[in-house]
Amino acid sequence: MDRYDIIIVGAGISGLSLAHYCAKSGLGTLVLEKSGEAGGCFHSYRPEGGSGFWIELGSHTCYNSYGNLLVVMEDCGILGRLIKREKVGYKMLVGNQLKSIFSQISFAELLVSVPTLFTLKKAGQSMESYYSKIVGKTNYKKVFDPAFNAVICQKADGFPAEMLFKKRPRRKEIFKSFTLAGGLQAITESIACQKGITLLTGREVQSIAAKSYGFDAAVADGAQFEAQALAVAASPAVAAKLLRTSFPELSVRLSQIGVVPVETVGIIVRKDALSLRPLAGIIAVDDSFFSAVSRDVVQHATYRGFSFHFKPGRVDQNAKLKRISEILGVSPSQMEHVVAKENIVPSLTVGHDALIRDIDGLVAGKKLLLTGNYFSGLAIEDCASRSLAESIRLKGMLVHP
Ligand SMILES: Cc1cc2nc3c(=O)[nH]c(=O)nc-3n(C[C@H](O)[C@H](O)[C@H](O)COP(=O)(O)OP(=O)(O)OC[C@H]3O[C@@H](n4cnc5c(N)ncnc54)[C@H](O)[C@@H]3O)c2cc1C
Repeated sequence: MDRYDIIIVGAGISGLSLAHYCAKSGLGTLVLEKSGEAGGCFHSYRPEGGSGFWIELGSHTCYNSYGNLLVVMEDCGILGRLIKREKVGYKMLVGNQLKSIFSQISFAELLVSVPTLFTLKKAGQSMESYYSKIVGKTNYKKVFDPAFNAVICQKADGFPAEMLFKKRPRRKEIFKSFTLAGGLQAITESIACQKGITLLTGREVQSIAAKSYGFDAAVADGAQFEAQALAVAASPAVAAKLLRTSFPELSVRLSQIGVVPVETVGIIVRKDALSLRPLAGIIAVDDSFFSAVSRDVVQHATYRGFSFHFKPGRVDQNAKLKRISEILGVSPSQMEHVVAKENIVPSLTVGHDALIRDIDGLVAGKKLLLTGNYFSGLAIEDCASRSLAESIRLKGMLVHP
């Protein structure tokens, strides 16, 4: 059986940022990933023969306020590779028409409601209860609710208001919002090849057992790995399943956190096939998809690309392509590349912070780490921050040779 200092289950940004911190502290770090490549929600599709073109099937934007992520990127030597995202706006899809967001807002209602911003606290409020007071009920329903749904690719009404749009210090020398050549997956790829990190892809962890020396992790092909410490960096549903036998109480708490799939379809077309003016993305008001994200923020000489994030279980692939074709005004035969991806995102509700306090209480003092996008928010920086905090908790608990 192979022995490591720490085993990390899941090679998304949570697992890999944790791997980075562990390897930096000198720990022999093994990352086991179910799918064929590292990245998870960082998935930059790069078609062969696409002249360096890529589209994002998951995360698409990083900001200069992502301080912990930027330090990880700096350590990996990739801060010099940032590309500024060009300023092109989002449009709202109302029925079959693309309209400007401003044209949908009632400024009279906004003016009356907005002073609430200075007195209302986010803590304990849902997105709906907080923002409908600040922008007005009609504005909320008509404009802000669809926009928030678009951001988190799920119904946002019940989501805790304090877990979205956080204020964080900005690094002014870095582009305000950026990507990298080849897409954001270049970040997870760069972390994964650092010294001290062993990444095994195509290895789904099926069970975890607590042992006197630490942990055993068994993967689908029958291989077993052991380590003093173990981290689960997959969705709360996966964590609940893997920890059911050795940590039943923790497993129950984790299973109380909802998750939803996002069904993404990415398409690439030649520029001359489209008459649509460049845009950053589309916010759907009442449709089979929540949002579409475009590649127009980094323009390309030949191609344009779009990723449509569909509501789960609503329509099949043919209906998805038909809708994309109607909106963009291109026929399916003009789509040179079509690719599908399913990502899982947590669906959080007010009171989530109390559940996380329980979970943290149950892992306290144990060499079992939990990281992911379900602790304080979905943003990439929330993942890196949680991983940093867990790596600090681990330090001092490990007997390192
Ligand atoms: C469509 C979309 C767009 C987004 N856009 C942005 C954005 O622009 N900016 C931003 O800040 N945030 C964005 N987010 C949010 C952010 O990308 C995610 O919250 C974050 O990337 C999640 O990372 P993670 O590592 O926690 O989870 P994941 O990326 O889901 O990684 C978990 C990994 O665990 C693996 N795994 C699961 N089970 C097992 C198992 N049993 N054994 C081994 N491996 C397993 C999975 O295959 C996966 O690779 C977006 C999310 C989505 C879905």
